[in-house]
Amino acid sequence: MELIETILSIDPNYWIIGLLAVFFTLEQILDNPFVFKKRGAHLLQNLLLQVVFVLLNIFFLALLVFGIEWFNNQEIGLFYLLSLPYVVQVLLGVVLFDFATYWLHRASHKSPLLWRLHRVHHSDTTMDSSTTFRFHPLELALVYQAWNLITAAIFGLDVTTLALYYFMVYIFFFLEHSNLKYPKWLNTTIGLIFVMPDHHRVHHHQEQFYTDSNFADIFILWDRIFGTFKLLPVHKIKYGLVEFKDPKKQSFLYLLKSPFILMNTTKKK
Ligand SMILES: [Zn+2]
Ligand SMILES: [Zn+2]
Repeated sequence: MELIETILSIDPNYWIIGLLAVFFTLEQILDNPFVFKKRGAHLLQNLLLQVVFVLLNIFFLALLVFGIEWFNNQEIGLFYLLSLPYVVQVLLGVVLFDFATYWLHRASHKSPLLWRLHRVHHSDTTMDSSTTFRFHPLELALVYQAWNLITAAIFGLDVTTLALYYFMVYIFFFLEHSNLKYPKWLNTTIGLIFVMPDHHRVHHHQEQFYTDSNFADIFILWDRIFGTFKLLPVHKIKYGLVEFKDPKKQSFLYLLKSPFILMNTTKKK
């Protein structure tokens, strides 16, 4: 528990910026599976989305914390019926947050309304660690935070568990989106349980058959168990969405207003 407390004493914004700096630099100096030019301009568009999210989230995060603490005070949720040691609750809770997020992610691909927000993440025609920030701010602040509150209420999870989950999931976010070559044997060892970059690359492929796969963030186990696991050789993968192909549609401002634009979409009608 002491280790968890030490981890959680790190400012989340420093943690996220630190991870970006490490991965962004590694992508610059190590071998990349995909050719990537103009990384600076790409980074700027994604960073702007993150800035809007952080500002918006000040309000929504406060609401979420208030909500979770309210449910905890009422002792609502599955964990209040079981008397598990606290450290087990926290670690199991991280797994449960990831499990719940897997289902929200699946729903975001199925529901036309949620897809309007989520397609911003899939719009990136080139991908590197900064794609971690390519989310519509409303999707993260509104949809994800509401889902986190529901998850916490169902299972009886607390704010510490949520903080640890985010601490861990951001490592995976940066890793999954990174444009780095790595030994393939990792896919058939660690990759049996955890999400590897090759898994998430398939998720960003233009063809819907592949986009609708590998929804997990930390545990690829969910996709393997629930039949959404797919693989495709990296050289066959083409990132992005047809409706966002025009370079003008890759700008921060366009992405921000895109959920409110009716698109001639090839997907999710
Ligand atoms: Zn997705
Ligand atoms: Zn992604």
